Amino acid sequence: SAMREQRIRKTKTVCTFCGVGCSFDVWTKGREILKVEPNEDAPVNGVSTCVKGKFGWDFVNSEERLTKPLIRRGDSFYEASWEEALDLIGRKLGEIKETYGADALGFISSSKVTNEENYLMQKLARAVIGTNNIDNCSRYCQSPATDGLMRTVGIGGDAGTIKDIASAGLVIIVGANPAEAHPVLATRVKRAHKLNGQKLMVVDLRKHEMAERADLFVRPNPGTDHVWLSALTKYIIDQQWHDVSFLNDKVVGFDEYVKSLERYTLDYAEQVTGIRKDQLIDMAKMIHEADGVAVLWAMGVTQQRGGSETSGAISDLLLVTGNFARPGAGAFPLRGHNNVQGACDFGTLPNWLPGYQLVTNEAARKKFEEAWGTPLPAEPGMDNQFMLNAILEGKLRGMYLMGEDMAWVDTNSNHVHEALSHLDFFVVQDVFLSKTAQFADVVLPASPSLEKEGTFSNTERRIQRLYQVFEPLGESKPDWQIIMAIANRLGANWNYQHPSEIMAEAASLAPIFAGVSYDRLEGYNSLLWPVAPDGTDTPLLYTNGFAHPDGKARLVPANWIPPVPPAKQYDLHLNNGRLLEHFHEGNMTDKSEGLRSKVPDTFVEVSPELAQQRGLVDGSLVRLESPYGQVKVNVVVTDRVHGNELYLPMNSTSEFAAVNLLTGPATDVRTDTPAYKETYVRMEVLKAK
Ligand code: SF4
Repeated sequence: SAMREQRIRKTKTVCTFCGVGCSFDVWTKGREILKVEPNEDAPVNGVSTCVKGKFGWDFVNSEERLTKPLIRRGDSFYEASWEEALDLIGRKLGEIKETYGADALGFISSSKVTNEENYLMQKLARAVIGTNNIDNCSRYCQSPATDGLMRTVGIGGDAGTIKDIASAGLVIIVGANPAEAHPVLATRVKRAHKLNGQKLMVVDLRKHEMAERADLFVRPNPGTDHVWLSALTKYIIDQQWHDVSFLNDKVVGFDEYVKSLERYTLDYAEQVTGIRKDQLIDMAKMIHEADGVAVLWAMGVTQQRGGSETSGAISDLLLVTGNFARPGAGAFPLRGHNNVQGACDFGTLPNWLPGYQLVTNEAARKKFEEAWGTPLPAEPGMDNQFMLNAILEGKLRGMYLMGEDMAWVDTNSNHVHEALSHLDFFVVQDVFLSKTAQFADVVLPASPSLEKEGTFSNTERRIQRLYQVFEPLGESKPDWQIIMAIANRLGANWNYQHPSEIMAEAASLAPIFAGVSYDRLEGYNSLLWPVAPDGTDTPLLYTNGFAHPDGKARLVPANWIPPVPPAKQYDLHLNNGRLLEHFHEGNMTDKSEGLRSKVPDTFVEVSPELAQQRGLVDGSLVRLESPYGQVKVNVVVTDRVHGNELYLPMNSTSEFAAVNLLTGPATDVRTDTPAYKETYVRMEVLKAK
């Protein structure tokens, strides 16, 4: 009733703006958000939040929210009923499956939606359609880190918790900008550094806030992280600083690994990376002298052709120095989206069933087949990069995409747009009419996190519950309800009444979630997987051995994959990433007045040296051109960047300044993650000012 609507309510939620996983109470009256109030019971953040978590929520009441299904008619859409939209989707997806087979359909899931919704999306693809063609946006970011860790220590997630990062003797941040992208986590490091004598080393192309604070900051040449990492490890072994008993007891492959390090001498590393030899020695000493080393990394490492190999090299360095399976140490790939960890954990990947059980594993597949009452495809499916190419080859005819903005965030936008416009049938489910939705045949209005129940898993593998703050706006619906409706249109008979039932099903099928239940997650309670049947969780991994059958870690041989040099005219390296005020490409945070007024549009950072050379000042207008496209953008002159390095933030409200018009088709050789960071451009001055 109207009376009840107007009552002041307080509801716990989990932040949707990054992988740190802050939780807090939202105070509301009707549809108005009165305040966001942190709660000391919040396991990750306690009483802290950042600007996005505190002020970023007005997008839920934006006029631009989708509130009705839309169906394409010619070049535009008309508003349709759910009945009409679902009938059309059921009929079209059914027809494509009938005519071309299940593998002619592809499914893109979302790192913004809940674990339960991801679980249902992969169940729809596998059990109802019969394809493993399912992927999520970890393909754009942390798949290489997962690969490097799986091959070495056996689990793709963070080795410990944010407390372990805060209690490490030395934190090394490589190719990550946590002060802007993971603010509350960065605050923990800042505090430990200032008050507890924690040492901080930053290796990055860009002098961001954490670099300014670091005890040692070095700028390697682009794409050379593998070389300095391997050289440090070699130097540490040559000095006999490695942890012999740890290696003997817990690690296999040492001799072969040492052989692979032969060429990574300090001289070689200095020549390739541009980091001076004395600095390399200082870095090795800092690692040797530290009581516990935690390495944090993100897209600067992973979005390269050698991203997986470099992630493996990070894990190798930590193994050689005994920095796993102890508090205050380990590998910490920083997850970007609020639920990118959970999207992978719950099986929206072409080769993994929920809980990292391979689709090729007969026994695992059998278990799911029995539970779901249907045979399942045994061959791994296509990842999102393969799907795009398969569309252009006529092999993939239909796609169902939830909460992902491929047309904007994937590399080489012009190629993506071409592929998406070739689909026979394309369903997009989102909160807003995204760039990608403009290519759709049907657009379904979804409800954001504040309008539904479910769980998210943060970068620490921590599962937390979110509670419904608002009713869904207009006719929008929670994603899990929409997926269920589509599955049922295609002949399934799903009858989930609440996300807790979906979690119970996942827990019964995936041993790493065995003890996960909504009761155990009540309020501010949380669980870090693996969770034993009795509810015991695992904040710190590997204390009972590494996640391989013999309990031992493996060292992966050093194998640097050098970046491919650009054609000569593309003389500038274009780095790219996030800004504090915006979440990724900005399609939610742009709708927040407060955030948008702070940083209304993108800009390119130019070094003082380059600015002087080309006659540029703040506000000059330039055209950047790569082999794949061009953008027009204003200049900001700053010593955050150096020499011939540019930095273009990825959020953009202008079609003409989107970084992915410039990025190319290269991908990580092991995981197909696009090599966003291997982008070179030339710059033309349009208006010096
Ligand atoms: Fe949200 Fe991340 Fe900020 Fe925490 S640090 S409030 S999870 S955006």
